[in-house]
Amino acid sequence: MYDFQSGSLHAGGVRVSLDDADGELCFVSHAHSDHTEAFFKKREVLSSRETFTLMGKEPSERKLNGITLHHAGHMLGARQIFARFDGGTFAYTGDFSLHDSYTARAAEILACDTLMIDSTYCLPQMRFPKRYDVLARMEKFVKANSNALVVFGAYSTGKAQELVSFLNRECGVAPVVGSRAAKMCAAYEKCGVRLDYLEAGSEEAKKAQVSILPPPEVNFATGAKMAAAHGKPVKTAVATGWAANSRFPVDEAFPLSDHADFADTMRYIYESGAKTVICANANPEAAARYLRSIGINAIEKGEPAPGVQTKLAGMQA
Ligand SMILES: [Zn+2]
Repeated sequence: MYDFQSGSLHAGGVRVSLDDADGELCFVSHAHSDHTEAFFKKREVLSSRETFTLMGKEPSERKLNGITLHHAGHMLGARQIFARFDGGTFAYTGDFSLHDSYTARAAEILACDTLMIDSTYCLPQMRFPKRYDVLARMEKFVKANSNALVVFGAYSTGKAQELVSFLNRECGVAPVVGSRAAKMCAAYEKCGVRLDYLEAGSEEAKKAQVSILPPPEVNFATGAKMAAAHGKPVKTAVATGWAANSRFPVDEAFPLSDHADFADTMRYIYESGAKTVICANANPEAAARYLRSIGINAIEKGEPAPGVQTKLAGMQA
């Protein structure tokens, strides 16, 4: 069963926490650092083989009756958790995306009675342009600047590997990556994802057209420094969903997100047929309030069970 107060599952006599480190067994949805506390606290972890590998750990074979893991999109190894009990069904998405990417399979929409969903983008202003259009713009940008050095800002875990794969496949380019991203690229390769990249500092890297660095290191000032050092024009860019709503000090900001936006989050909620929706991770209070305002039986993670049933029941698409 799902325990509303603790925000965790009870299955086979075991308390399973969801992206926190409080359970006897801790479900870790994916390898981003805001979800991996359980690994650092050395708790027993339930996760995908890929996530164990990306965290530098041996995969665990632990299984629980009635509990299954399902693709979540977002990044390599990301999973949702689904539980079937005598009294009903439960699903938790973690960070998710309904689109295939270069390195991860799209999330399945899981039919369930109770849905705990990542609510980071569950507000009407959170919309991303079509992924295909963003990628086409990025390809054009890299190819149009073949005489310049192109520097992308992208997070070292997940987004950097997605960019490496995009640059390999669509632009025929092997980019230079920083040391943290290179370590993660090596872990992706261990999981069977082919990536062609160069490590910063090598002789080959000095001749490369495209680099990927952590976002805080990519701005007009670093672009100017690099241009002076290399005697070449430098074009700076970021690839992040936040570019849809925020300004960045770079030549081009591409809103390439690995999250479901508002429309896809609503699609998941409706198509799941959930009678109760629990908002978790970022913006849970605002998201739950919004969902209630449109007639969905929604609460925040950790709130007691709601008494009211909703018009969502039976609305499966
Ligand atoms: Zn994430």
